Amino acid sequence: MKIPFLDLKSTYLELKTEIDDAISSVLLSGQYILGNEVEKFESNWAIFCEAEYAVGVANGLDALYLSLLALGVKEGDEILVPSNTYIATWLAISKCGAIPIPIEPNEITHNIDPSLIEKSITSKTKVIMPVHLYGHPADLKSILEIARKYNLFVVEDAAQAHGAFYNDKRIGAHGDLVAWSFYPGKNLGAFGDAGAVTTNNIDLAEKIKTLRNYGSRIKYENEMIGINSRLDPVQAAILTIKLNHLENWNNKRTAIANKYIENLNNEYILKPQVQGNVKHAWHLFVIRTEFREIFQKFLIKNNVGTLIHYPIPPHKQKAYQSTDNSKMHLYIAERLAKEVISIPMGPHLSYSQQEMVIDVINSFKP
Ligand SMILES: *Cc1c(COP(=O)(O)O)cnc(C)c1O
Repeated sequence: MKIPFLDLKSTYLELKTEIDDAISSVLLSGQYILGNEVEKFESNWAIFCEAEYAVGVANGLDALYLSLLALGVKEGDEILVPSNTYIATWLAISKCGAIPIPIEPNEITHNIDPSLIEKSITSKTKVIMPVHLYGHPADLKSILEIARKYNLFVVEDAAQAHGAFYNDKRIGAHGDLVAWSFYPGKNLGAFGDAGAVTTNNIDLAEKIKTLRNYGSRIKYENEMIGINSRLDPVQAAILTIKLNHLENWNNKRTAIANKYIENLNNEYILKPQVQGNVKHAWHLFVIRTEFREIFQKFLIKNNVGTLIHYPIPPHKQKAYQSTDNSKMHLYIAERLAKEVISIPMGPHLSYSQQEMVIDVINSFKP
């Protein structure tokens, strides 16, 4: 028996009839761009996130990019961003011509360390972009306090945090804008690319709605230089169905995470910790080991699939080679990139599969 890191096809099979009907009804409707299905999902997603507004876009990167664009971020602006995030967070900043200013994470939560933010603020700083990495909400209280003190915007990268809570309130509108990805492997995933932005600010919501559609509100009248980044109605219809199952799937993830935390007891691995004031979305279950390479090989040999999120921090990527960031020594991000490894996690991981994963990991010796 081979245990995959993630099993996406079984989600489709579980909901096949409903999803096939929804797709066919979009195809029969004749409405293939925006329209009812997109509006329906936007409204459902806003309610789920405890936010006033949701705007559907084409993917998570565009959700981040359009958020910055709507805030007026431009060439030369500085944006504070975690040093250990997925590269999309950085690319959104670079697409605006702005400069990503990396902030190292707290080693326990892997999230941006608020105590390191203030010393990186300059007169050019515009936005703080926390990422709720792996589904664990960042320390929003401290971040929002700093933002208020220095008059900065907060754009949250929530691409891994569908359904998470911070202080008894869903992730969705703590900051000014919250960017979502519905990439297939996320806790709420489409069967293709999709994304959204949620907010309580009606002006920003309207602006993103206009920007995602060629800068146009009235057909053939363009009031700003926008892009084409609309949420596909077929994906919207699929997301509406899957959203009904998100809470249940997240509960399964929580049960799996708790079982891992209780039963993994290998002295060579470090388990994740959850802060007291959050509900983790458990998008990923990430452990740390100094022996990662042989650990991963041992797991492969024993039929357990793993992934590494992420092996190269953004400042070490070729894409940023010609920027000042490439010369920075970001010790925590660099060490985490060498030691983290994500083990199987998802609503379709069965009891016996997880037992096997636990036995294999506990029997590892370097
Ligand atoms: C998935 C992800 C994104 C990008 O989403 P896409 O829909 O693939 O563009 C951005 N940030 C983080 C942290 C992600 O995990």
